[in-house]
Amino acid sequence: MDTPSPQKPYDRIVLHYAEIGTKGGNRRTFEEKLSRNVAGAVGQYGIGSIRRESGRLSAALRKGADLEAILDGLGRVPGLAWFAPALSLEPDFEAITKTVVAMASQHPDTTFRVTTSRSHKQFPMKSPEVNREVGAAVVEAMGRKVSLGHPEVTYGVQIDKTRAYVHWDRHEGLGGLPVGTQGTLIALLSGGIDSPVAALQMMLRGCRIHLVHFLNRSISTNRVAKKIKALAERLSLFHGPLNLTIVPFEELQREIVMVVPAKFRMIVYRRMMFRIAERIREEVRGLGFVTGDSVGQVASQTLENLRAIRHGVDWPVYSPLAGASKIEIINRARAIGTYEISIQPHEDCCSFLVAKHPETRARLEEVLATEQFDVDHGVEVALAARELHHFDPRGTQRKPGEDRT
Ligand code: ATP
Ligand code: MG
Repeated sequence: MDTPSPQKPYDRIVLHYAEIGTKGGNRRTFEEKLSRNVAGAVGQYGIGSIRRESGRLSAALRKGADLEAILDGLGRVPGLAWFAPALSLEPDFEAITKTVVAMASQHPDTTFRVTTSRSHKQFPMKSPEVNREVGAAVVEAMGRKVSLGHPEVTYGVQIDKTRAYVHWDRHEGLGGLPVGTQGTLIALLSGGIDSPVAALQMMLRGCRIHLVHFLNRSISTNRVAKKIKALAERLSLFHGPLNLTIVPFEELQREIVMVVPAKFRMIVYRRMMFRIAERIREEVRGLGFVTGDSVGQVASQTLENLRAIRHGVDWPVYSPLAGASKIEIINRARAIGTYEISIQPHEDCCSFLVAKHPETRARLEEVLATEQFDVDHGVEVALAARELHHFDPRGTQRKPGEDRT
C-alpha cells in the first residue's frame, strides 16, 4: 500500500454524520437518505457506490474522479459532520503503519498525531496502542514531532473488521440532518438577506423546501426574477432538486392600496402572502411554512405585527432567525454564498405604496377591519398566474410552466 499518487490515488471517501435524527429503528432510513443525497450532489464528479459501515458511510472514488469538486460539493450536503478522502487497505497493523508513514512523507516538518478508531474489537491492538506504535514509526522514519494537543496534521486510522482506512485531509461538513428526513415546508423567499438563510436552517433540520416568491410585476424589472432564481439556484446546491413558485402579486396589491390605509398595508400584504402560500402548501402536502422574520428588525416584525400577520394561518410558521441578530444572519449568508446575491438591489414588492411610518403595534381587529376587498378572488387570480421553476443542481433548469405546483 502506497501513499496517494497518480499510481495510488485515494480510493474512497469516508463520510461521517453527527446526528441521527429521530431515535429508534430509523438509522437505516437516515443513512439511506444521506447516501442518496450525497450521490445526487456529487455523483456526477466520479463517486461510485456508497456503503453503509459502522457509524459512517463510505463512497468509492472512481478512476479520474474530480476530487476537488467532490469535496466542495460534500461541504454543502446537510447531515455530514465531516469527510475525508481515504486509502482503504487490509485491517492489518503492518499495512496501516506503512501507509501512514508513506502518507506522512508528504508533510515533512510538520507536527502530527495519529488518531485511531476501531469498530473491529477483535483487532489485536487497542486504539491508543495503534496511535503510539504508528506514531513512533513516523517519528523514526522522518524525525517528525508528535503534538497531541495542537498537531498540524492528524492521521486518521479507522479499523473495521474487513477493512481499514487511513486519511489526513479532513473537511468539516454542515452538520444537521439529511434533507428529506422530514416533510416539506413552504419557504417564503424574498430577495432579502434573511429568508434564504432561514430556508437553509430548516433544510439542516431535514426538511424539504418548496420556495415561494411574491412578485409585483408592474414595479419590478427583470432583475428581481433573476435575483430570486439565482438564490433558488444557490439553495438547490444544498437541497438537491428544488422548486420555486413565483406568484404575481400586483393585482392583489392594487386592491389593497385602494381600501387599506397605508400604515396597515405591509401587514395586509403579508397576510395575503400566507393565504396564497397556504394553497401551495396544500398542493404539495407541505407541513408548514418558513420565513426569515427576525423579531424587532423592521416594522413588520414587531411581536404585535407578527401576530396580526399570522392570524388565521393554521399550519406552523417556523422562523429560525426569530432570535438571531443581523450580524449573525449576515455571517451565515456569507458562509452559504447567498449574501452576494441578496445585496444586489431590487424592487421589493412590499415597499409598494406603504407608509413612511408604518404601524408598529397593529391591533388585530383594526387590521382585519381593513380587509374590505374580495380576498378569495384576489388569491385565485394570483394563483392562476403563478409560474413554477425547477432547479436541478446537476445543471438542467426546466422552463416555467412545464408543470404545476
Ligand atoms: P428578508 O431579508 O428575508 O427579506 P426582511 O428582514 O427584509 O427579511 P421582511 O421584508 O419584513 O423582512 O420580510 C419578512 C419575511 O417575509 C421574509 O423573510 C420572507 O420570508 C417573507 N417575505 C417578504 N417579502 C416576500 C416576498 N416578496 N415573497 C416571499 N416572501 C416574502
Ligand atoms: Mg425583505
